[in-house]
Amino acid sequence: VGWWDHVGAAPKDPILGVTEAFLADTSPRKINLGVGAYRDDEGRPVVLQCVRGAETKLAGSQFLESLPNAVNTKLVEESVRLVYGKETDIVQERRFAGIQALSGTGACRLFAEFQRRFYPESPIYLPVPTWSNHHNIWRDAQVRVRTFRYYHPDSKGLYFGALMDDIKSAPDNSFFLLHPCAHNPTGVDPNEEQWREISPEFKVKNHFPFFDMAYQGLASGDIDTDSKAIKIFREDGHLIGCAQSFTKIMGLYGHRVGCLSILSVDENQAIAVRSQLQQIARAMYSSPPVHGSLLVSTILGDSQLKALWEEEVKAMVARIIRMRAKLRESLEKLDSPLNWEHITNQVGMFCFSGLSPEYVDHLARKFHIYMTRDGRISMAGVTTSNVDYLANAIDEVTR
Ligand code: PLP
Repeated sequence: VGWWDHVGAAPKDPILGVTEAFLADTSPRKINLGVGAYRDDEGRPVVLQCVRGAETKLAGSQFLESLPNAVNTKLVEESVRLVYGKETDIVQERRFAGIQALSGTGACRLFAEFQRRFYPESPIYLPVPTWSNHHNIWRDAQVRVRTFRYYHPDSKGLYFGALMDDIKSAPDNSFFLLHPCAHNPTGVDPNEEQWREISPEFKVKNHFPFFDMAYQGLASGDIDTDSKAIKIFREDGHLIGCAQSFTKIMGLYGHRVGCLSILSVDENQAIAVRSQLQQIARAMYSSPPVHGSLLVSTILGDSQLKALWEEEVKAMVARIIRMRAKLRESLEKLDSPLNWEHITNQVGMFCFSGLSPEYVDHLARKFHIYMTRDGRISMAGVTTSNVDYLANAIDEVTR
């Protein structure tokens, strides 16, 4: 028997598989609504002006060796300020353990490893549904994965009562993964009042809140508003874990910039936790790449570039909101027998359309429109010139 003869092909990733199918399609009408990457109204990928500005500022600087500690620290501090506020005492009093991570995925993976090392018996509770990779990440870190109810398919909104019941019935001291804004894939977030009910229940149960923040700003268009949930937990005195990704919010897809931060009771605890996170990272990939991290810390540390970035985030969100309104309007104009209010109620990059896997397959076969089989539409792929075609296709397959 030869080496690797027993290795079969891994199942296709549901999101990456959509891109593959899209690329193989030769129709000029084809639309990729699978991957959640921002596109402009011509369907082109976008390099933000703030990123170009940071590139100009950085041009000529030489960082051929891995990141000097000071640069790394800057990225982490700026990231933590982005979540907790500019003047947060967390940074002043150094009550956080933060580490640059390989974007949001890497931050989640580091946290999962850390969780397993120090709480090997504790499960992580993931919302139903969630970004499919959450399941892979915690499974590969050998953490037991449980789920809690989150979304109701009939109302296409939050299943709040069930969510609260599941928080209450989970064993004390469980880990919970929460999306602070622009929940992927549903686009459904708890409102402020509901967060204010969730947080105290976490206190009662002593659950650990881990926030996966991949879309700060992309829900409301405002960076501060979108971290409201985390700030509410913070006011209630939780020691929060937070994964941040700069992939979508700065359009840095391939650069893989992110941050993992864990609040601590004091600076000594922060030092201990941080050293453990560094040790985990050291054995996995040693240190993260330099360039993207410099771009982010340059933007966040420069008031002009930061203001420009915030405007660009607003513009991305405004375009997505326009496309939501247009898609719903087009479907209603066609006298679709179905209710499409959720298209405009949901927020962020995705619309959880409610289309069944059969409808999704039909859209691909007949109309060359590609999305994940859970019916998630990446609104960023919808443009002025394809929205009517999309509405017609959805109307036709759902009749
Ligand atoms: N978390 C959520 C909820 C996401 O939707 C994504 C990306 O789709 C990520 C994390 C990871 O993104 P990245 O690793 O590209 O930063």
